[in-house]
Amino acid sequence: MIIGHGKEKDIFRNILTGDKLHHAYIFSGREGSGKKMFARELARAVICAEQVFMEPCQCRHCKVAAASDHPDIHVLEESPVKIEVARRIAGDAFMSPLSARKKVYIIDNAHTFTKEAANAILKTLEEPPADTHFFLITDKYEQVLPTIRSRCINMRFSNLTNEEVEKVLLSQGVMNDMLPEIAAQASGSVSYAMFLLDNAEETGRFAPDRDKNSLFAEIHGLDTKEKIRAYCASMYAYMLVKYKESEDETLLDFSNYLLEILRRLEYNVSLDMFRMDLFIKTTEVLCEKS
Ligand SMILES: [Zn+2]
Repeated sequence: MIIGHGKEKDIFRNILTGDKLHHAYIFSGREGSGKKMFARELARAVICAEQVFMEPCQCRHCKVAAASDHPDIHVLEESPVKIEVARRIAGDAFMSPLSARKKVYIIDNAHTFTKEAANAILKTLEEPPADTHFFLITDKYEQVLPTIRSRCINMRFSNLTNEEVEKVLLSQGVMNDMLPEIAAQASGSVSYAMFLLDNAEETGRFAPDRDKNSLFAEIHGLDTKEKIRAYCASMYAYMLVKYKESEDETLLDFSNYLLEILRRLEYNVSLDMFRMDLFIKTTEVLCEKS
C-alpha cells in the first residue's frame, strides 16, 4: 500500500481510466518521499490484466509482480546512468513485452545520466514503441539534463506529511518511542527519518560532563560531511530523549541547533567552520561549566 500522495494517485487513476498514459514521465521530489514505490505500483497497474491501480489484484501479472520481479517491469538503479545501460534500454525497448501487454522501465537517479548516455536514449524516450513506458526518478530535477527533461512530463511529488512519514515507518515495522518526534523532523523524507533513527542507537558518548579536550578531538575527527551528519543526528536524538526526561529548555534549543546544522550541511559549506561552531555549542551543553 502506498501511504500519502493522494493528489498523485488521483491524477494517475484518471490517466489510467482514460487510457491516456504518456510514454515518459519524470517523478521528481524530495528524497525518501516514496516516488520509486509509487512508480513500481503504477508499473504494476500498467501491466495488470485488469488495470487495477492502488488496490490488491490477483491477476497472473500482479501475482508475479508481487512475488518477484516481473519480466516486463525493468528497474534500473545505476548511478551514474552510463552509456552501456542507456544503449541496452534503447535496444530492448523495441522488443515486444515478454509476458504482459506492455512494459515499463523505471530508471532511478535520472539526474546522473552522462551526456553520452542521454544521447543514446533520447530518440527512444521521444518515440518509444506504443507498448513501452518510462518512469524516471530523481530528487534533483534541476540537475536532469535539459535534453531528457524536454522529452518527459515532470510530475513533482509532494512531500509526505509528518503523520504519513510516521505511518510509513510503522508499516515497515519500525518501533521507537521517538517516532513522532523523528517523523516531525524528517521534512517528508522516510529515508531521512530512518537515518535519524539509525543514529539514535549509539548515543552513549553524549553523556554530560565531557572533558573539553577529548570532545575537541572527537569533533575534529569528523572529517567528512557524512560523519558530521551522523554525529549530529545521533546527538540530536540523545538530546531529545534528555529533554523529555528533564524538560530543560537548553536541551531543546540545542537539539534545534543540531537540526539546523543538519539542514545547512545539505549545501556546500566549509567543514572547518562547522566543526568549530559545533565544538563551541557542544561544549556549552556537554562540558561542566567552569
Ligand atoms: Zn492485476
